[in-house]
Amino acid sequence: MIKLAAKAKLPTLAGKFDIYTFQNEVANENAVIVKGDIQGKEDVPMRIHSECLTGDVFGSERCDCRDQLLKSMVYLGEQPYGLLIYLRQEGRGIGLINKIKAYQLQEEGYDTVEANLKLGLPADKRDYTYAVEVLRYFGIKSVRIMTNNPEKISFLEANGIKVTDRITIKSQFTDYNKFYLLTKKEKMGHQI
Ligand SMILES: [Zn+2]
Repeated sequence: MIKLAAKAKLPTLAGKFDIYTFQNEVANENAVIVKGDIQGKEDVPMRIHSECLTGDVFGSERCDCRDQLLKSMVYLGEQPYGLLIYLRQEGRGIGLINKIKAYQLQEEGYDTVEANLKLGLPADKRDYTYAVEVLRYFGIKSVRIMTNNPEKISFLEANGIKVTDRITIKSQFTDYNKFYLLTKKEKMGHQI
């Protein structure tokens, strides 16, 4: 389903990576950040990170996205091989405008799940099909996943990717994200 579009070296603060982009019909312009040689490897350390402009780029403390992204990159940088799949599905898939609308509602007292529902949107609209395609492209059948989200694990397993281990990323609590993280834990089953 996906075809390699371009690949280049990507030196970062967390180490030397390669960046892959793939042509595909469904998803946006996603990025795949690869450490070392992952072709056909087993138990590959991996993170699937969904884009969060406010957190990843601007360092917003309303969520823990940037913290998780940086910790995953540092972890991968220390491994002989691994990958990070960066999915351009902003705001758990609802887009930036809707995410900010939901923030507005949260300022009126709704939690992150209630706010999405009030906007007539699902609590989580993310899709990980692209990630499965990427793993298939590299011939990877088993991964060690860095996530707090059990849904990612069941999605991968339902699509023939074995999850042999879960690498815990400890979330940084701040005054602003505490309520958000607790909602994700209580309403979405995240392990925080
Ligand atoms: Zn975020």
